[in-house]
Amino acid sequence: MAAIPVPCTARCTTWAPCYAPAARPRRKGLPDIAAGRLRIQSMAVTEPTTGSDTTQTKTSAVNRDGRHVVNGQKVWISRVQHSDLMILLARNTSLADVKKKSEGMSLFIVDLREAIDRGLTVRPIANMVNHETCELFFEDLEIPEENLIGEEGLG
Ligand SMILES: Cc1cc2nc3c(=O)[nH]c(=O)nc-3n(C[C@H](O)[C@H](O)[C@H](O)COP(=O)(O)OP(=O)(O)OC[C@H]3O[C@@H](n4cnc5c(N)ncnc54)[C@H](O)[C@@H]3O)c2cc1C
Repeated sequence: MAAIPVPCTARCTTWAPCYAPAARPRRKGLPDIAAGRLRIQSMAVTEPTTGSDTTQTKTSAVNRDGRHVVNGQKVWISRVQHSDLMILLARNTSLADVKKKSEGMSLFIVDLREAIDRGLTVRPIANMVNHETCELFFEDLEIPEENLIGEEGLG
């Protein structure tokens, strides 16, 4: 299977180096990403109660009529202001309902150009480490099926 190299922050050690599997529909954006016309510089993993142990991810993605409906919160997410697309980690199945705690999570591509103010609120965090980061709030953000990376629940 082909892979898209996903940029990581220096602090985001959990994901460095990180390769996400690319399925057919996402390939259409690859030439633009490679040419720098489409910016994918942001990855949303960390939550207020979930840092190094990503299995505790609480942001949920519920499959409803072929669309993934996302609710939850992320924090310390870098370079949102410099991205057109963002990789998002969310839980499809709650931790209580999975056999292995690493199961039941998926990766999605969020098109920030469509999502901001339509289910996604971005609040910049002022900090002193020469690094732009944000808080993200998801409220019924709808992600199309083709933006799922890899297989649902195996993120
Ligand atoms: C400037 C900045 C930019 C960031 N950008 C991003 C981003 O773009 N995307 C994103 O998703 N996140 C980002 N983060 C979040 C960063 O990835 C998290 O801070 C990191 O994963 C640690 O999580 P935590 O802060 O909750 O610490 P915790 O997970 O609570 O860890 C606290 C301390 O305990 C240690 N620790 C944790 N678990 C163990 C263990 N099992 N054994 C031994 N020691 C342990 C850790 O090493 C750490 O020192 C950013 C953070 C900062 C400060």
